[in-house]
Formats: sequence, C-alpha cells, structure tokens
Amino acid sequence: MASINKNYLRLQGSYLFSTIGKKVREYEAAHPDKKVIRLGIGDVTQPLVPAVINALHAAVDEMSHKETFRGYAPDLGYAFLRETIAEKDFKALGCDIDADEIFVSDGAKSDCGNIQEIFGEDNTIAVCDPVYPVYVDSNVMAGRTGEYDPAIEGFKDVIYMPCTAESSFLPELPGSTASAGGRKIPDLIYLCFPNNPTGAVMSKAKLQEWVDYANEHGSVILYDAAYEAFITEEGVPHSIYECKGAKSCAIEFRSFSKTAGFTGLRLGFTVVPKELKIDGIALRDLWARRHGTKFNGAPYIVQRAGEAVYSEEGRKQVKEQVAWYLENAKIILDGLKDAGMEARGGKNAPYIWLKTPQNMTSWEFFDRLLEEANVVGTPGSGFGPHGEHYFRLTAFGDREDTIEAVDRIRQL
Ligand code: PLP
Repeated sequence: MASINKNYLRLQGSYLFSTIGKKVREYEAAHPDKKVIRLGIGDVTQPLVPAVINALHAAVDEMSHKETFRGYAPDLGYAFLRETIAEKDFKALGCDIDADEIFVSDGAKSDCGNIQEIFGEDNTIAVCDPVYPVYVDSNVMAGRTGEYDPAIEGFKDVIYMPCTAESSFLPELPGSTASAGGRKIPDLIYLCFPNNPTGAVMSKAKLQEWVDYANEHGSVILYDAAYEAFITEEGVPHSIYECKGAKSCAIEFRSFSKTAGFTGLRLGFTVVPKELKIDGIALRDLWARRHGTKFNGAPYIVQRAGEAVYSEEGRKQVKEQVAWYLENAKIILDGLKDAGMEARGGKNAPYIWLKTPQNMTSWEFFDRLLEEANVVGTPGSGFGPHGEHYFRLTAFGDREDTIEAVDRIRQL
C-alpha cells in the first residue's frame, strides 16, 4: 500500500500568502463598496519593458516558421543566455563565473526550494529569522528540520539567526545561536540580500566574514540575490562572488521576476561554481544531473526575452522601472516616518519593514489596516517569530494606489 511523505504533515499552517488572500477575499465579499489597495504580496504591476516585448514578438515569429522553430530547450539553458549572463552579471563585476556554471530555470523559487535535494538528509540548515518561508518549508518536506516545537515557533533542528533592530536586521555569525536540538554549526546557510522581508542589505566586508566562516567550517552558503537590481548604495555587493573565496563555498540564486517584471513569464538562474566541492564531488555536476533529470528547460521565447534585458536599451529600460518602484518605496517610507512610525528598508530593496504602532501584533495590525484603511500588507510574524510586531509593505503597487495607501495609513 502506498504511503505519504510524512514530513509534509510537519508543515505549519497554510502558506502565508494563502491566509492573507483568504482574509482579503472575505473582507471584499463583505464590503463590495470598498477599494482595497494591495501592498502585500511581492508581485510587480508594471508592464514588461519595450525591449523585452520586442524580443518576445520576434521569438514568437521564429516559432511560427519551420526553419526557426525550436522544441525542447537545452536543460541547462541556451548558450546565448548563459554566456550573456556570465559576461554582464559576473565578469563585468570582476567575478570569474563561466557560462557552464550558470543554470537557467523557471525562477528562483524553484531553485531555492530544489537545491536542498543535492545535500545529505542529515545536513543542518541555518536561516535568518524573519525569513522567506521557502527555505525552511522545502527542508521540512525533505525531513531535514526535525519536529516543530510550538514553544520556539520553529523546528527543533534548524538554527534560527535572529535579525533584529539592534543588529540592523543582519544575522550574527553562527556560534552565538544554536538550534533547539543543540546544533551549532550549520552545514547549509541560507542568506538573502537585499533581504525579503526586511529590506536590509549586507556590506561586502560583512559578507566576506560569512564566506570566510563557510570556508573554515565546510558550510555552503545558499545566497539568494533575487533583489540585486534594487541595490543603489556603494559597498553593497551585487553578487556573493565579489567576496574572496566565495566560489568554493557559495551557490547564488538570481531571478528576472523583480529585476525585469518576469513574475508571469518565469525566468531565473542559479550559479554553482565548479570549485564548490564536498568530499571531492563537484556540486555543479550534481545540480546539472538534477536539472537534467527533473527540468526540461525554460521556454525559448522567455530566454530570448531574458537576453533582451541585457541589451543596451533593455538595461536602460529595466533600470528605469526599478528606479520607479524605488520611488514608490520612498513615498511609503517618507509617509510612514511623517506619521511617526518606525520604518526602514526601501533604499536597496522594494520592501519597507515597519514596526507596528502601540506594540500591536503583526496580525492585529494587518486586520486594522485592512478594516480601517483598506490596505493589505504582510504580517511580519508570518516570516518567523522575530518578525512579530513588524509589518511588510511593498513598493510594487501603482503610483496612485501607493500614494493613496500612505494617505490612508497616515489618517489611522
Ligand atoms: N527569493 C526571494 C527572496 C523572493 O522574495 C522571491 C519572490 O518573492 C523569490 C525568490 C522567487 O522568485 P521567482 O519569481 O524567480 O521564483
């Protein structure tokens, strides 16, 4: 008789955004006259830039002729895209990453969720708290986290690294924190900068300390750089490979979703350097095998669209789009500060992380914002216990909606 993967039964509650969606749908059904503004889920709202649209049209035309029609894409991605990425995203920064270390996929969520498959079941993971939920949940499914312990609102074998206002929302190097089960040295360290949900960034000097730690302890850093395009400040690394020694200890995830508005098109990539080895086995080869076995390649037309993001006009257009979202972030940040709220982020990331007023819980503030201002945000506690009493707003809304939402929040 078949049996289920019982690890799934350890997953906690429903996915954060499903809970939010349900609450918002119920509110809208009960109040059809109200205009609800959504600054909750991190989805983009602006159309694809002209360079991308032109590339899509051209690729669709190619698909309509026998001579230029394409079937299955190469599992690891078309050379035209992998070479462009290696050149423009890495070599241009002085990072020696080759095309054959780049794996094109349908987005960073799949890669962040799937990467754990190439590691042993007994590996201990470390995550920031608060954290993007995919890293923990994918490891719960794989049986790597131990039991859920309601007392700590977390899993027994996971090392949670608190990110608090006192530490500018940056984690401390492992060692100061252990898992509830007593594990101290993580094998896999998930880092995400610019950070979702806090909007915090890590300087190159600080990230270097993590790289040095990982090399010293034989840990692997899983570095999620999905929001790299939003970095505006000097001294903030765009890639972990800007740090010395990162190629022997780090995997990096990138996404076209927020960089170029591809949330609906689906495109991302993962970098696994050849130098990264465990017991002499190259993780690059394991990931290539995994990708080849379980993934049949991102669509040709989408990869052509991705290539267009790197063209001269494409770069200019997506840069303008990102700057436009960052202007929204500034409007939110300034408005909240004017209203006397404590808020940060929004400078190198599309997220604003605010402290809930009057010490309300994150969900109390969610309900108040929905009911009294008709604005939807994301409760910080949904990202982990250290997110309690915090709240995330996103800069991906329409300009007018963003201005109106901030006005309504000011009047609360
Ligand atoms: N990583 C982080 C930190 C994210 O916030 C998101 C999306 O919100 C993703 C990855 C997913 O990116 P993609 O759309 O490429 O799957």
